[in-house]
Amino acid sequence: MTEGRGRIARSIRQRIELDRLLGWDPPLSRRRLRPAATGRPGAARKDPPPAKAPAPGEVGERNEARNKERKIERQAKLDVIRAEVAACRSCDLCRTRTQTVFGVGDPETRLLFVGEGPGADEDRQGEPFVGRAGRLLNDIIKAMGIRREQVYIANVVKCRPPENRVPNAGEVGSCIGFLERQIEIIAPEVIVTLGSVATKALLGVEASMGKLRGRFHTYKGIPLMPTYHPAYLLRNPAEKRKVWEDIQIVMERLGMKLQS
Ligand code: URA
Repeated sequence: MTEGRGRIARSIRQRIELDRLLGWDPPLSRRRLRPAATGRPGAARKDPPPAKAPAPGEVGERNEARNKERKIERQAKLDVIRAEVAACRSCDLCRTRTQTVFGVGDPETRLLFVGEGPGADEDRQGEPFVGRAGRLLNDIIKAMGIRREQVYIANVVKCRPPENRVPNAGEVGSCIGFLERQIEIIAPEVIVTLGSVATKALLGVEASMGKLRGRFHTYKGIPLMPTYHPAYLLRNPAEKRKVWEDIQIVMERLGMKLQS
């Protein structure tokens, strides 16, 4: 195989692998989910063999149906919390919000990003990270070789703090239960906290981002990588390199091939 063809084949394999890892079922998944009966002789088989040999693709179809069902179930559970958030008047942020900002993305994803709270654009549009900081987060996600729709993005507080101030301890305390329940339902394999508010809210630590970033911590058994907030990167672009280092550690943990 020529070097060029090898590179293309590698990049296609990488793409399929990334899609699988982040919860998107590519059309090729059926072929990958060949019935065990057609597998290597002597290969370990966890489930008993099916009573009758399934038609090619049938096992993949069943798995797809199960995945779809699980996704719908998770979405329904999230929608219950979304409705509670929309009706929430537990703190004063409800007085100044245009609307609540619940979260967005694939409820089946393996990767969750957690920010601080909505800004003006998010308050207007009802979706997290849609302003300037959001565009930078999108670039980071794209640089990982995946799409925004393949991850989940949520915030610690669901209402915009006036003038984009940092949410206070009372506001975080009123809201954190919603995020905890979102995490429980999504059950991501890795959480990336963006900035110190999200990191402190989930880890309960006071240390600076400089001390916390660059290695995994644990939130209820889930590996959590703290990194700088995109808004901080807009003010300090030289720090982007460190965020990319953190993201590469995350990609490695998820088994994603690093982008060259
Ligand atoms: N900053 C955040 O922390 N969250 C958003 O949704 C937007 C900006």
